[in-house]
Amino acid sequence: MAETQYQKPLPAISSLNKPFWDALKNRELRLQKCDKCGLIWYPPAPLCPDCWARKFTWVQLSGRGRVNSWVVFHQSYFKGFDDELPYNVAEVELDEGPRLLTNLVDIPNDQIRAGLRVEITFEDVTSDITLAKFRPIEIRRS
Ligand SMILES: [Zn+2]
Repeated sequence: MAETQYQKPLPAISSLNKPFWDALKNRELRLQKCDKCGLIWYPPAPLCPDCWARKFTWVQLSGRGRVNSWVVFHQSYFKGFDDELPYNVAEVELDEGPRLLTNLVDIPNDQIRAGLRVEITFEDVTSDITLAKFRPIEIRRS
């Protein structure tokens, strides 16, 4: 592709979510973990959604989870997606609990299944933004 500019919508980076995006850039998945009750949550928030404690630590996660649900888009709502139709949007439940909205890669859309084991892969889309995508974990079949 000769495109020099990324055509899809980009996330708005704030002081609150910057550690999340900085971690992705470094090939790590980090989310906030409550210092009081241990809950790990997403999306970034200034306080624990469970116990409302305001003390938390950005912890590195395994980057593994499973597909909870997904949709396949056959219509483009943003010009940047025109060339990729049909494309999937999936909700991945991480092993640590939180759910992320993402795209699944390295798998045909008609082979996506609920419960599919996936792992994170990183896609640099601009010099500042790296997106978290997920791909199937290779399973040895006997
Ligand atoms: Zn908590």
